[in-house]
Amino acid sequence: MENEKLTKYKDKRDFVTTPEPEEGSGPQAHTFVVQRHQASHLHFDFRLEMGGTLKSWAVPKGPPSQPKEKRLAVAVEDHPLAYAGFEGVIPEGQYGAGTVEIWDKGTYEAVKPDDPEAQLESGKFSFVLKGERLKGLFALVKTAYSSKSWLLIMKEKAR
Ligand code: MN
Repeated sequence: MENEKLTKYKDKRDFVTTPEPEEGSGPQAHTFVVQRHQASHLHFDFRLEMGGTLKSWAVPKGPPSQPKEKRLAVAVEDHPLAYAGFEGVIPEGQYGAGTVEIWDKGTYEAVKPDDPEAQLESGKFSFVLKGERLKGLFALVKTAYSSKSWLLIMKEKAR
């Protein structure tokens, strides 16, 4: 069905000659979520949908809200995509026992759409957040201190 919709577009072009794309999805919006997690220590869990899971960081002080603000973000294990919709109480005795609330949710787009996972692997990833609270250009940058320590930086606020 997808292809049928593009028949007119394709008929008009010779893709051997023109540099225009024949098909493909182009830059894509993916889900991000921030969960306020009142566990033994209050923190915010920042998660980006990538490669079929949610890449996750625990941000003790919460995400930055002003340009040039940086917040420590500790990389934690990937979470399943379904976790982006999770709110509730993790029972006493379970890992992360406490209350989880969705603090913000929306979509993000990588500034460079090519292979976001490789960008993360290299220690720097820039992206635009379109949430209810968080809107603008952000970056995650790995610090030299440890492989788990990152900075979540707000670069520009969306108008
Ligand atoms: Mn947590």
